[in-house]
Amino acid sequence: MTRTEALFRDKPYLTSTEAAVLGINDRGGVILDRTVFYATSGGQPGDTGRFLRSDGSRIAVAATVTGLTKDEIVHVPAAGEPLPEVGETLKLEIDWDRRYRLMRMHTACHLLSAICPFPITGASVGEEDSRLDFDLPDAGFTKEGVTEELMALVAADHPVFTRLIDEEELAANPSLVKSKNVRPPAGTGRIRLVCIGEGSSVDSQPCGGTHVGRTGEIGEIHIGKIEKKGRENRRFRIRFGPLPAG
Ligand SMILES: [Zn+2]
Repeated sequence: MTRTEALFRDKPYLTSTEAAVLGINDRGGVILDRTVFYATSGGQPGDTGRFLRSDGSRIAVAATVTGLTKDEIVHVPAAGEPLPEVGETLKLEIDWDRRYRLMRMHTACHLLSAICPFPITGASVGEEDSRLDFDLPDAGFTKEGVTEELMALVAADHPVFTRLIDEEELAANPSLVKSKNVRPPAGTGRIRLVCIGEGSSVDSQPCGGTHVGRTGEIGEIHIGKIEKKGRENRRFRIRFGPLPAG
């Protein structure tokens, strides 16, 4: 197991860094001592981008995933790209436009979970479209109504920040965990809470993803659809832009 220093956790706006190659795994994945590349987790896709070598050449990175443990971050070069040498120093650059859209979408999903306070059974964050599945028998929610509530939280430009808590504090506040199936890892000691609003007035929940610093950065979003997925499940789709007329 190799531990990679995950710079995106405390610095989600950091787009590049230098890093050393610690190893190449048996599938050609590159493991570094530190990284700005987020690895696919919690419904948020991993980053794409590139490595810049000292000779000026580039290695395109097509995906970032976790390895044997959540602490091991594996950078997957695009097909046909050369592999760096172990020990080599690289400059890393993520595709920032894509990541920033994912950060805005991911933060919007937190707002939706605050508006719709039911257990979450599935989540997927995308550049154009995100979805959250709720354990929710009868909607009673309309896309117009939820869009209005989402946009009120965006317009209020609430701060988004993280706070570390210990397992005792989490155990004493079970409502912090919104996901029905995914529990924060036990035995790690500290749990990272993502909080929205002064004093967490809007929401707080454990999350390891990347988020924008203020809700205003999300920009205009709307609920594209509320789908019935079984008797006790509703799927909400969030999209960028205004709610289409009609
Ligand atoms: Zn999150």
